[in-house]
Amino acid sequence: MKACYFCKGEVVEKRIQHVHQWGGKIVLFEDVPAEVCQQCGETYFSPEVLEKMDEVTMGEEKPKATISVPIFSLAEAVTA
Ligand SMILES: [Zn+2]
Repeated sequence: MKACYFCKGEVVEKRIQHVHQWGGKIVLFEDVPAEVCQQCGETYFSPEVLEKMDEVTMGEEKPKATISVPIFSLAEAVTA
């Protein structure tokens, strides 16, 4: 059993939904094999999984579905 790099919490294997950003493109992946910290929620991917996501994101493979994502700016609404 591995421990979380950040909080030393317990890390378990899961299939998760992951938003992947690469080269200015944003893609949503489902059923991604990952290791997730039970304590802080940090996710860890194997190098193979990361490489596959980069490959698919930049490739010509047809997505299962496409969704539109609302974008909001807090530039005006929140002042520090
Ligand atoms: Zn953690």
